[in-house]
Amino acid sequence: MLLLTMGVDIGSASSKCVILGEASEVIAHSVVPSGIGTSGPRRAVDAALSSAGIGADRISVTVATGYGRNTFDNADSSVSELTCHARGAVWIHPGVRTVIDVGGQDVKALAISEKGDLSNFVMNDKCAAGTGRFLDVMARVLELSVSDLAEYDAIADGIVPVSSTCVVFAESEVISQLALNAPLPDLVAGIHQSAASRAASLMKRIGVAEPVLMTGGVAKNAGVVRALERSLGLRIITSPYSQIAGALGAALIAFEKT
Ligand code: ADP
Repeated sequence: MLLLTMGVDIGSASSKCVILGEASEVIAHSVVPSGIGTSGPRRAVDAALSSAGIGADRISVTVATGYGRNTFDNADSSVSELTCHARGAVWIHPGVRTVIDVGGQDVKALAISEKGDLSNFVMNDKCAAGTGRFLDVMARVLELSVSDLAEYDAIADGIVPVSSTCVVFAESEVISQLALNAPLPDLVAGIHQSAASRAASLMKRIGVAEPVLMTGGVAKNAGVVRALERSLGLRIITSPYSQIAGALGAALIAFEKT
């Protein structure tokens, strides 16, 4: 019987699961938009098992990662999210030298050595500036879905500056701009620029080497990706696997244990 391995990444905003086959290929993955403290982790596992068409008994090793990894009982071990993100990123884009991970609650910049090992990192986990949460709050103020922000950004004629990176101050700034009838697309572009400036400053602290891969759910927002490219003056790579990079890394570590 094939030996399958599983990685589960329990974040603040979402739960992700990846199942790898015998040649460490991805055979199923899932993202459930509920993170730690909810039924999200179990639903992510069930969704991946059902997509692979298998029962839990087919999984030989499971590794958990993410903010909620120690609350998940069904894993054989847990591994830090930094280690898992670095592993997942190198799998997604071999040769990657810098990873910018923007999730629901934190922003991490990772330096990867030529050999593909994590060599340095810097993390913003005390404040919501530049995180998915920042974007979720701004989208709510604008009565938009976070998944629609990129489309508005794409048709912006200019950028209405949102000078504060703090979610509380930025929210008031955006409300004031709405009262002044600022064009919605330009305001969205300003919000993206504010989030990107936070990520860019973290990246500069570890020194940016190319190629650069963006991971985390915010990598799905092409507006933030473009704003970050503008801030840094270089190309940012994203992948359909960007949001599941941590779960992928956990599954790869599980694979090594088989
Ligand atoms: P965590 O791992 O910290 O739980 P994720 O890496 O899953 O978080 O990122 C969650 C964030 O990703 C959300 O707060 C949201 O801003 C953003 N996001 C998720 N899905 C989308 C989407 N379809 N389009 C744009 N942004 C998204």
